[in-house]
Amino acid sequence: MGKGLFMKTALITGISGQDGSYLAEYLLDLGYKVYGLVRRETDTMRFLHSVQDKVELLYADMRDPVSLEVAFTKAMPDEIYNLAGQVFVPTSWHLPAETFDINVGGLARLLNMVERLKPETRVYQASSSEMYGNLNGLRNEETPLRPTSPYGVSKTAAHNLCGVYRARGIFVVGGILFNHESPRRGPEMVTRKITLASADWAHGKKNKLKLGNMQARRDWGFAGDYVRAMHAMLQTEKPLDYVIATGESHSVYEFVVEVLHCLDLIPPQAEVADVVNEYVEVDPKLFRTGEIHDLRGDATLARRDLNWTPEVDFEGLVRMMVESDTGVASKGRPAKGQVVKSGA
Ligand code: GDP
Repeated sequence: MGKGLFMKTALITGISGQDGSYLAEYLLDLGYKVYGLVRRETDTMRFLHSVQDKVELLYADMRDPVSLEVAFTKAMPDEIYNLAGQVFVPTSWHLPAETFDINVGGLARLLNMVERLKPETRVYQASSSEMYGNLNGLRNEETPLRPTSPYGVSKTAAHNLCGVYRARGIFVVGGILFNHESPRRGPEMVTRKITLASADWAHGKKNKLKLGNMQARRDWGFAGDYVRAMHAMLQTEKPLDYVIATGESHSVYEFVVEVLHCLDLIPPQAEVADVVNEYVEVDPKLFRTGEIHDLRGDATLARRDLNWTPEVDFEGLVRMMVESDTGVASKGRPAKGQVVKSGA
């Protein structure tokens, strides 16, 4: 790797999203030439300010093969990172066919193009912990996939498509990333929904936030850590799927408590549950069909083969998101996670 003659070229679908923007920054630092697919001009304005002059944006839609082929032919990439997708589970119940067309059809169009136009291109597919469905304990690469939502089924189909193309000789991997968050997370996802609401809390307003199932547990990591694993998966000798996770899960309730701690809103003598009740309320409309109760991943293989470890822990992640959304320095108990610039 390096600059000049040996510069590698990457094409990132979904470059304007959370993961796409962190990955673009990471690959540019490594000396890559980076192309990114966007659908609309407005997409480019979100998180790409800092790299706008350094990445080349191409217009394409994952559902439109002609636009994809024009973009692919322009980039002729060494590596594709397929991060575009319909990512919100509840939306997948409203728009199941569109979710499939983007999440499965989009990958199928890319793989077909790679095979015809540049079969040595290495492909990273954004697979998901949502593929596992409900099960007790840690999940790894061998755990059976039993999705419970159209989103989960779409990610499982795409993941399996990677397997069959791999058997045909294409270097394609599915990165099974557990939930990963940051100040750039979409506002509909629970972590960001909470930290956005905390901007009011930080300034003395007790606006009650409506949440769904607060007992649901997720293995939340920092997106900036997870994009390093995506890149590492395409540098191995043999293409393999990897789980990327912290190995720890926390409930939505615990996330709220941690946010309140960061803002020093839980007085020492107070009953934590009472304080939580002042800031959030349960709205049964937000409960989910096919809810996955607990997700926890075992990233042993990635730690061993890719030398990957997450640098930001749960407390560090919450603090980073709260500070970014409130503009207030965290006052609560000292977090264990290291300080990372949020760059939102
Ligand atoms: P997901 O794991 O990809 O579905 O990520 P989300 O951030 O959307 O949801 C994580 C968990 O939080 C799920 O178990 C949801 O049921 C739960 N949850 C509880 N209340 C809410 C809410 O108000 N919004 C969202 N998005 N999730 C919620």
